[in-house]
Amino acid sequence: MHIRWNYRCFLCSNPIDFHVTPETPYEWLAYYHYRFMYNPIPLFMNRMYLKYIGKKMRRVCTHCFITYRPIPFKVLRDREIGKARGRQMPTTSLAPEEIQQWLDEMPKFFYPEETSSE
Ligand SMILES: [Zn+2]
Repeated sequence: MHIRWNYRCFLCSNPIDFHVTPETPYEWLAYYHYRFMYNPIPLFMNRMYLKYIGKKMRRVCTHCFITYRPIPFKVLRDREIGKARGRQMPTTSLAPEEIQQWLDEMPKFFYPEETSSE
């Protein structure tokens, strides 16, 4: 089982664009069930999107693609003089630790007999 991601989100730096390569047909089937049917932690917020940010094309996650808006000049001005505070929305895409958790639970789902007998 090979897992990798190619990019990170430009705004929240969560990993995006996953590639999971199962090695055996059994793994392939189990992975499909795990990801699309059992689905303990949904990964769909980590898909890659392209978005123009500051006249440049950037790779962002689904969450940032939906929610990102450029900060207006007046808000920036107020922040600099301390009149307004920057507010950050919690991102719904997965951080690397959460993906690690997702991967750790995978063998339990793949081979339930082995883990229960031992
Ligand atoms: Zn993001």
